[in-house]
Amino acid sequence: MKTCLLASCILILAAAAASIADEPTAAQAGEPLKVVLTFDDGSKEHATLAAPLLAEYGYQATFNIITDRIGMSTNSLTWGQVRELAKAGHEIASHTCTHRNLNTLIAEGKSDDARHEILDSVAAIESNTQIRVTHICLPFNAWTPDVDKLVKGLGFDIQEFRRPNIGGDDEMKRSAREQARAAVKKALDDKRVRLALMFHGIDKIGWRPFPNGAADLRSIFEELRELERSGVIKVVPYAEAYP
Ligand SMILES: [Zn+2]
Repeated sequence: MKTCLLASCILILAAAAASIADEPTAAQAGEPLKVVLTFDDGSKEHATLAAPLLAEYGYQATFNIITDRIGMSTNSLTWGQVRELAKAGHEIASHTCTHRNLNTLIAEGKSDDARHEILDSVAAIESNTQIRVTHICLPFNAWTPDVDKLVKGLGFDIQEFRRPNIGGDDEMKRSAREQARAAVKKALDDKRVRLALMFHGIDKIGWRPFPNGAADLRSIFEELRELERSGVIKVVPYAEAYP
């Protein structure tokens, strides 16, 4: 796991260097930074803890689900919960079938497996929700030119992979709210026009859950709401920030 994460960090850096020119940075004066909320890996707590808070704040998020895990354990979302999220206006995106690193699969000569990870997960989401899937969230954010070619060749877009993770075990020991504030500040300093925040575990389930569970997620939403009130940011659905 550690190796995977390290490898993905390296990939992220390489990818950032490769595609930085694609990033629109010419923010019009006074236009707020568009902030997108993404929840990865399909933890049950995304439905039980995150969704009620999103409803309270009126935010629409993107849920990146690993389709083979849906309904397979008490920690996972069920398809019923996925449908509820979709009905509430949230986006459901493919995070592949099994969360394998697509670049590793391609490098090992298993491009067919990589193709199946994409197509089968999309088919599962579409048949279970009747919603059209338009983009793929890459496991480990492992973007490479080969992965790019494969996904786009199948007719899908790749979700923003330069997403700061907000969660527990922060390397700089910051609170959840401080992490969110810092991510927004960095995006503004970099003159970016959009920022996708990434969340995993909320309370007990998933990668790096918050030390104070849903209360930490609420503190992030409070921070975002405050920044919205001062006109610095606007929390928007993914498609509005990445049309
Ligand atoms: Zn993931």
